[in-house]
Amino acid sequence: MPIVILIMAKVSINLATGSIQKEELIVGIDLGTTNSLVAFINPDKNPQVINDTGKGVLVPSIVHFGPTGDITVGNEAKEYLTTDPQNTAFSVKRLLGRSYKDIENYKDFFSYKVIDDDSESLVKIKVGDKFYTPIELSGLILKELKARAEHALKTPVNRAVITVPAYFNDSQRQATRDAGKLAGLDVLRIVNEPTAASLAYGIGLNPDETKTVAVYDLGGGTFDVSILQIQNGIFEVLSTNGNTFLGGDDFDRAIVDYWIEKNQLNKAEVLADNKLAQQLRLKAEETKKAFAHQSLVNDKIGDIWCTIDRNTFNELILPKVQETITCCQNALKDAKLDISQIDEVIMVGGSTRTGLVKKMVGEFFGRPLHDEVNPDEVVALGAAIQADILAGNRKDILLLDVTPLSLGIETMGGLMDVIIPRNSKVPTKAGRQYTTSIDGQVNMKIAVYQGERDLIKENRKLAEFDLKGIPSMPAGFPKVDINFLLNADGILKIQAVELRSGVKQEVEVKPTYGITDDQVEQMLMDSITHAKDDVSQRMLIEARTEGEQMIYTVEKFLQKNGSFISEAEADTTNRLIQTLKDSLTSGDKDAIHKALDELNEFTRPFAERLMDHAINTAMKGKSVE
Ligand code: ADP
Ligand code: MG
Repeated sequence: MPIVILIMAKVSINLATGSIQKEELIVGIDLGTTNSLVAFINPDKNPQVINDTGKGVLVPSIVHFGPTGDITVGNEAKEYLTTDPQNTAFSVKRLLGRSYKDIENYKDFFSYKVIDDDSESLVKIKVGDKFYTPIELSGLILKELKARAEHALKTPVNRAVITVPAYFNDSQRQATRDAGKLAGLDVLRIVNEPTAASLAYGIGLNPDETKTVAVYDLGGGTFDVSILQIQNGIFEVLSTNGNTFLGGDDFDRAIVDYWIEKNQLNKAEVLADNKLAQQLRLKAEETKKAFAHQSLVNDKIGDIWCTIDRNTFNELILPKVQETITCCQNALKDAKLDISQIDEVIMVGGSTRTGLVKKMVGEFFGRPLHDEVNPDEVVALGAAIQADILAGNRKDILLLDVTPLSLGIETMGGLMDVIIPRNSKVPTKAGRQYTTSIDGQVNMKIAVYQGERDLIKENRKLAEFDLKGIPSMPAGFPKVDINFLLNADGILKIQAVELRSGVKQEVEVKPTYGITDDQVEQMLMDSITHAKDDVSQRMLIEARTEGEQMIYTVEKFLQKNGSFISEAEADTTNRLIQTLKDSLTSGDKDAIHKALDELNEFTRPFAERLMDHAINTAMKGKSVE
């Protein structure tokens, strides 16, 4: 069972003024693969989607880059899907937080260029001669949503809750968070889409209630089903299943293929004609939606008859819908549950409006479905409810299966280096590599902290231990891997290994032990009020640390290799070192950077000289020292 931490938000802080205010608008955002939208809680205390007059509620998750650098997002960008596919990014959610290796198998799905030069790190997209990360592209979509919300609500919107699929891993969640940051949003929480959908139906708002819920989400290009257990207000994901390439787009394609066949057209030719293909696709989507209230569609595009009845449509899509039912079966099996143990079934995603889908899902679960809330709005509405709770506008308690405070270690200058960020879903593991700062250092102090502040002294210390017995090596040589493993019971295991020697040390702590929810909340609030100061302090400390390292390195060089430079050069170097030393005590980070740059510029050729010499001596078969 995941660790659950109770957070009861009561007040919020105005970032601009630093003052605490009772009500601040925090929006809820559904950042979808096909469509995105934003919702808020209206003055009547009800969740409501932002409807930009003329543009509608849904913002297609599409970004187009024009020849002059102009960027369009949403409906306008959709128009370019067929006319300018190389410069139109769609479905970027599939790439968020992924490496090329992750998506290699379906790279042909994208009409834009996905870069494959480094298969291990996060993917990039090339548009024209520019490179974009999926985070930047998602950031552009979020920016559009933020702008729409601000326009409609006539107030700045700076804070949001963003939803992600339950199966998103840490890297995908972090990427979503970063996209929010790029859009100028403080992302207060990343919430699972099925959790948000449940909230929109009021499920989980009553802490006394225990429910097992199946959330069936059929969107434009993806299908997932999640089984949640909600107990004491805790949302636990028991299982997820699905197919990331199954959705309403398949229904549209099935109709287009049917028309091509009935009109005896050549499929390759039709699809090669961008304009016609797009027209057919749009007509097919329109037709599919029309089956909600009519059983026959009879239309024409040019000479092509676009005729189909509902029964034929149902036959065409039956195998696809059947596949989603198999996924539901598997999800139940993984959750070790019987159908009769499911208390509620929630329908999410535009494609669940399809009659056959409702019928088959209803029959499978053998119970009435929740489809009262608009299925393409339900996730955003639930996110708005979560946002409202965070804003302190509700007395409800919400419990989460995430770690409420960041976990990290102390680095040079007393700075906090976060290893597991706040709001990470548990269980989770993360790590980073460190090294020594002094020659011959054989012990390394590892101090573990919890909190959001940049300086460890403002955070809460959880543990401290020494990694002992590192073989004596020059500074920067040892490779110390520090790994954090936060398990499902909330136990944090910290492991430090020096890779060259294999020296290892391990400790365990329980971060939630001895801390109350109020204290957690206070720590979060402090981090927001002090954000500005913290950043400038961090920058100063980082500059100082860099300066100290530089002085250490250059002085060592002078000591060992003084003969490589002239007396005049040595004098200047010493003078520049002194200037840097003086700047370190000044508290002015710009002065430190300036002194650092000067010393760096001046001494760089020395290192090259030393290198040349080393090569020459090595070629003569002698050693350097
Ligand atoms: P996502 O979560 O992937 O961003 P959505 O939930 O917005 O996607 O679903 C988009 C899909 O819903 C599209 O394929 C669209 O054609 C389909 N859709 C929307 N309205 C209807 C309807 N009335 N009947 C059938 N499908 C619909
Ligand atoms: Mg969706």
